Amino acid sequence: MLSRINFFIMKKSIHPQYYPNTKVKCACGAVYEIGSTVESMEIEICSNCHPFYTGKQKLVDTSGRVDQFTARMSRAQQVSQSTKHKSKSDKKKALQQKRAQKDDNND
Ligand SMILES: [Zn+2]
Repeated sequence: MLSRINFFIMKKSIHPQYYPNTKVKCACGAVYEIGSTVESMEIEICSNCHPFYTGKQKLVDTSGRVDQFTARMSRAQQVSQSTKHKSKSDKKKALQQKRAQKDDNND
């Protein structure tokens, strides 16, 4: 009986302030009203403008992450190409040295 009563009583001074009418503003202009512990929110994408819900392909790149990724990829390709050339030439040199040594041994 006591536990049943306790279930309905909230412990004091441990719960944050609750705002039943928090305004959520999206970058697309949509405004939502939700219950939250903060008074207002500003978001970058919502169900009104997300490609998954709209069905339209749209590039959402607010912080230039796609550009950063492509730049990093091109840099990585350049590095790998330069190392590839190096290793190939090194292998050729090593092979030539081996052959030369073999020839010396045969003579
Ligand atoms: Zn939106």
